Amino acid sequence: MCLVDSSTTVDIDSGELGAAEYYCNECKNKFKALGKRIRCPACMSANVKKV
Ligand SMILES: [Zn+2]
Repeated sequence: MCLVDSSTTVDIDSGELGAAEYYCNECKNKFKALGKRIRCPACMSANVKKV
């Protein structure tokens, strides 16, 4: 039992587990998504990059 070490606990239950931020090269939209085949929610383009 080490109560002092509680500061190292990471909140992984925030609902954004694995989500990353992406930038759309087509419409300059910024959005969060997770998965491998990311598409821009605004223009449905797959021309996005991770930021
Ligand atoms: Zn877009």
